[in-house]
Amino acid sequence: MYAKVIVDISHEKLDKGFDYRIPEHMKDKIYPGVQVMIPFGRGNRLIQGYVLEIKETAGYDEGKIKDIAEIVAKSIPIESRLISLAWFIKENYGSTMNQALKTVIPIKEAKKEAVKRRVKLIVSNEIASEYVKKYEKKHATARLRLLNALMENREMSWELIVKLGVSGTVVNGLVSEGLAQVEEEAYYRNPIRYTDLKPYDIVLNKEQKNVSDGIKSYIDNKKDGFKGVHLIHGITGCGKTEIYMDIIDKVLADDKEVIVMIPEIALTYQTVMRFYRKFGEKVSIINSKLSAGERFDQFERAKKGQVKIMIGPRSAVFTPFRNLGLIIIDEEHESSYKSENVPRYHAREAAIFRAKNEGAAVVLGSATPSIDSYYKALSGEYELYTLKTRAKAAKPATVYITDMRDELAKGNRTMFGEKLHELIQDRLSKKQQIMLFINRRGYAGFVSCRSCGVAMKCPHCDVGLTLHGGSRLICHYCGYEIPMPKKCPKCESTYIASFGTGTQKVEEAVKKMYPMARTLRMDADTTSKKDGYEQILSQFSNGEADVLIGTQMIVKGHDFPNVTLVGIIAADLSLYASDYRSQEKTFQLLTQAAGRAGRGNMEGEVVIQTYSPDNSSIIAASNQDYTEFYNQEILYRNISEYPPVVSMMAILITSRDEQMLAKMADYIKQVTDKEFACERKLRTIGPADANISKINDVYRKVIYYKHPQYEKLVEIKNTVENMLDGLDEMKKISIQFDFNPMSGF
Ligand code: ADP
Ligand code: ZN
Ligand code: ZN
Repeated sequence: MYAKVIVDISHEKLDKGFDYRIPEHMKDKIYPGVQVMIPFGRGNRLIQGYVLEIKETAGYDEGKIKDIAEIVAKSIPIESRLISLAWFIKENYGSTMNQALKTVIPIKEAKKEAVKRRVKLIVSNEIASEYVKKYEKKHATARLRLLNALMENREMSWELIVKLGVSGTVVNGLVSEGLAQVEEEAYYRNPIRYTDLKPYDIVLNKEQKNVSDGIKSYIDNKKDGFKGVHLIHGITGCGKTEIYMDIIDKVLADDKEVIVMIPEIALTYQTVMRFYRKFGEKVSIINSKLSAGERFDQFERAKKGQVKIMIGPRSAVFTPFRNLGLIIIDEEHESSYKSENVPRYHAREAAIFRAKNEGAAVVLGSATPSIDSYYKALSGEYELYTLKTRAKAAKPATVYITDMRDELAKGNRTMFGEKLHELIQDRLSKKQQIMLFINRRGYAGFVSCRSCGVAMKCPHCDVGLTLHGGSRLICHYCGYEIPMPKKCPKCESTYIASFGTGTQKVEEAVKKMYPMARTLRMDADTTSKKDGYEQILSQFSNGEADVLIGTQMIVKGHDFPNVTLVGIIAADLSLYASDYRSQEKTFQLLTQAAGRAGRGNMEGEVVIQTYSPDNSSIIAASNQDYTEFYNQEILYRNISEYPPVVSMMAILITSRDEQMLAKMADYIKQVTDKEFACERKLRTIGPADANISKINDVYRKVIYYKHPQYEKLVEIKNTVENMLDGLDEMKKISIQFDFNPMSGF
């Protein structure tokens, strides 16, 4: 028998996998995923590798083939299913198999599980006191001491028992007499503090039940194999989470496991508690704050069947459940489901691949589905379910648009238009809460000279420097930092200042206009310290502030019943981004932000302030009309040939050597033009400078390919990879692929 082994070195050339003979004594220990040591190269240096598959024939000369040297003792066996998921990711998004494997199996080395032990008295004190007498007679002083302590406390931690000077033998003595019991609990960071465990008592309303029943019966009817992709399009506050939980209930009853993906930013204590209230200990979470070891523990527990529901962001899709029944993706439109690093996989697509492979169902949910998913739902590829009423409030919030140009004409130079001003005063007097939202792009705070117009740019990157704390200029891409100059470095004018309305400025303005208002601000600054984000949310939810001011962060899935007013200070700021999804992003942001108002039993109002009140995505958002938005957006994608109507692939080519970069980018374009000359539906754009043409002294160029078939783009990717393989120039350039990019480079 032979094994195809991939070498554990991140290097394109080693991406192929090598065949090795499996020695007789290893035969039943080698299977896909096992980490092995193999002799490599002429010197037979021992290096690590992963077994990818077992085969009966070797790919080349039997005589030359080498034996696997040993099995790495501490290796985690990678389930073959996860290897096939890695393979899918490598193929479809472009990376080495190694990079893909590392993405799917983030921690390779098994850490010893930390265990917490507790000793419990399991008999009544009456029975125990009989043993006290017995031990006194026998002068069993250590047992006596332990038993007395346990009668007092009923339950003690191991640490405390050690402090009593009692040994493990003594504990075992009590255990064998049937008096005590040792409980072991894997010690992992438990996200759940057992504070407000209100019982779960929600009964689905009719609309919710219809959706849930529909999906559940679909799952039942597809006994074996793939159970479909189901898109729930429900307005904010319609109660999607309750539907998820109802479906989860059914899947657990079928003895299967569930992955719930929630964008990291919405994965708060509040959210986790909702699941915990219903499913208790079956729930675990992963998030980026967990250490590698803690994360590993959660995956281990999933593998062992100790948890049945894993909640987490993108990477939760790799949870090694053995009997996966359902993957839920909440807020499926979120761009954070697409990895920003190689391999740039989309968790939604990876989830669908996995579900097909393992006979599970996929449920997508959003108030503002991605154009991609809605397109597939309309084409029949996904099942579509629609919910139109809020679970609690009588009706959705009322939305007003304020044309800020009119405000200026009226002489209003504040950040708050007349309508918003009026409503803020009203809510403050009624002691109801307000959320003020400002787009992150507005937080840019770029600095320039108002006299000569020169912008302060990073010398290493093609981006502006950002003002921090009023005195330092920082590059967000490379960390370059200088003091804020007092004079313009070019014309020496003192009119050098930062532009854009940041969250800080909004907060200052609120304090100035409404001195009585208590404010909280949520942005990159105030959430940088540990738990800062959760703290602000819980302060606001406890009513410790009247106004919450923030960026995107505040619009994600939070449920504050006392918020009855949402103000969007400047809605335009994401409209001018140079990628084809900018209208979609604007619509989603505005609709989600508006959805924060009136989630309790009181009705809400929303004010969208804009300089472009005629913009169609702003109007659609104000009407809270997804269909209106979708129809106009899909028209644009059709005419301009953008996803989901066609597929798109970007190749990002980077180098410190500007000339080499230009040469290689042209070369790639020439080769693909030639190779795919007969592809009449192929569109190629570029090479051109990337949006940010230099980062950290590395120059960047991009080529775009568009074709109706995704597979054709994969072919182009493979062609490019093959042609660059082994080229000397590759030492100086590097290359990345991005399929159906979420934003420009
Ligand atoms: P969505 O995720 O669709 O925005 P949520 O699931 O967060 O909506 O529900 C909004 C609020 O309504 C939550 O507080 C939720 O507990 C409540 N809710 C949802 N469904 C019901 C129901 N059937 N009965 C009572 N309350 C409900
Ligand atoms: Zn100047
Ligand atoms: Zn920089």
